[in-house]
Amino acid sequence: MYQRTVSRGLSLLLPCVLLVAGCSQLPLDDSRSLLGTQVTITIHAIDKDRLSENQLPAVMQEAFEEVARIQNLAQWRQLRSLNSYAGVEPYEIGGELIALIDQSYLLADETGWAFRPDLGPLTSLWAIGTDEARLPADWEIQAALARIDSTRFTVHDTVTAMLEPFGASIDLGGVAKGYAVDRACVVLHDLGVTAAMVWAGGDLRVFGEKPNGEPWRVAVRHPRDPEQYTAVLELRGDRAVATSGDYERYLEVDGHRYHHILDPLTGYPSRASVSATVVAPTCMDADAYATALFVLGPEDAVFLADELSLPAMVIAAQEDELVTRQTSSFDRLRASDEAVLQP
Ligand code: AMP
Ligand code: MG
Repeated sequence: MYQRTVSRGLSLLLPCVLLVAGCSQLPLDDSRSLLGTQVTITIHAIDKDRLSENQLPAVMQEAFEEVARIQNLAQWRQLRSLNSYAGVEPYEIGGELIALIDQSYLLADETGWAFRPDLGPLTSLWAIGTDEARLPADWEIQAALARIDSTRFTVHDTVTAMLEPFGASIDLGGVAKGYAVDRACVVLHDLGVTAAMVWAGGDLRVFGEKPNGEPWRVAVRHPRDPEQYTAVLELRGDRAVATSGDYERYLEVDGHRYHHILDPLTGYPSRASVSATVVAPTCMDADAYATALFVLGPEDAVFLADELSLPAMVIAAQEDELVTRQTSSFDRLRASDEAVLQP
């Protein structure tokens, strides 16, 4: 059996940033390798009463430190302990993790459980994107699904929670990057930054107005050609965009590709889509919605996105052709001159 694991740090979204030379340092951008991808922060404007330009490197540093903090939280010593104490006893995981899990369950409910945070037994079985990735036997998948269906998460007090039954496990891989992007934006804003973009592979958030009055431009990568893009969005104000794609992390076995977005109904990688992009107020929500819309496939995804008032675009492979469905609200965000833009 030939087996190959692929985990790409490729960007799914591409901010179109034009850096203009001048005496001001702004816009200023910096990138670090975090969360298994490249995280880029671009600061466009600051409140000059609270911040001077020579403080910008320190501001950048604090924002990246916050992303690193979430990365560590996301390696989730407490989360791993919550999972290993499943069915045994409550565990003190802290208020931040409880809030994250609670919000993830709300998102699960909203998306008809296409996104769900308790898929741990299944995601660890496949382990796509890690050295342990493998094609599980069908009985293993069915056993994991049964455990997921009986998972209960109970909050005991503000910091303590319990997971049941034994073997249940929470996986926040579908929202961790989005949450980290949100937190970086909060740090930047609290330190006096008035306009910025934070970008982590498939997840991106912008806030404030660019000083030149132009909208934020975000290019969505073509799912089959990394040199191309399928849409360019023009955003204003505080918005987040997330894309989930089947080309990000996958395992190849005997010429078949098994990617990292699992359908909670079947336990196998969802074949409903090849990429899903959604715009939402926060990046954590956008991150979960993108995963859910991917699982649902174009028709159901556009129906749900309309119901939730989310601009969204989903691409699927049907008979060797790519078909694209989008909400009218997504279409309205597309740049009118996108054909001439280079990502
Ligand atoms: P994303 O790349 O944001 O779509 O998130 C994919 C990650 O979320 C995977 O690597 C898994 O850890 C986890 N995941 C996979 N399928 C699902 C799903 N249907 N619901 C929630 N999380 C998922
Ligand atoms: Mg996601």
